[in-house]
Amino acid sequence: MTIKHHPGDGLLLDYVTGSLGEVASLAVAVHLALCPECRRQVNLMEAVGGSLLNTFPDEALKEEVFGNVLEQINSDREVLTPVRSNDVSTEAEFRIFPSPLPRYLFENGKSLQWRWIGFGINQIVISTSSDGNVARLMRIESGRSVPSHSHRGVELTLVLSGSFYDQTGSYARGDMQVVDETIDHDPRAEHGVDCICLVVTEGPLRFNSLVGKVAQPFVGI
Ligand SMILES: [Zn+2]
Repeated sequence: MTIKHHPGDGLLLDYVTGSLGEVASLAVAVHLALCPECRRQVNLMEAVGGSLLNTFPDEALKEEVFGNVLEQINSDREVLTPVRSNDVSTEAEFRIFPSPLPRYLFENGKSLQWRWIGFGINQIVISTSSDGNVARLMRIESGRSVPSHSHRGVELTLVLSGSFYDQTGSYARGDMQVVDETIDHDPRAEHGVDCICLVVTEGPLRFNSLVGKVAQPFVGI
């Protein structure tokens, strides 16, 4: 499995510092379960002390510190500690739903309750946070597409099974698409197998902050 699309350093740093919302953290965590490259990056950020960023109230200073952190990460890439073994999952262990998704999907003996929403799409709402951000599973039937749409705020889409493509590229298992209100698209599942994704919709304010600036190159793919 080769992952081509990653959350980007901005989102990973927010994840490390605990400043990402709950449902967005879930999407990043699931990507990390599938992506050794980003696990390595997160471990490097932790090793450099990314959590210290939260102690800087000033945005400009934060940005400067963030730049320094990334610089240090890149210069220390060879000498920092390797990935912790307990972060690593195998395909056989988690099959379609990597940790921590099963905790959300199957707790208390729950089974998956797909709900048909039309257009060849079924969904399961997993979690809604207090600020209105929503995490859901979406299953797009083979060859069908989500109607063309833009976004209010940022949308994170992580492919768990099958694949889809749109104006921005093609996405397979483990790939994360990050789009915002500047993107109009109509994601279509490839022929042959349904595409199952974890989709997280965030409020628009989050990405007007430092993270938004940092994530911008990844947002407009
Ligand atoms: Zn990655």
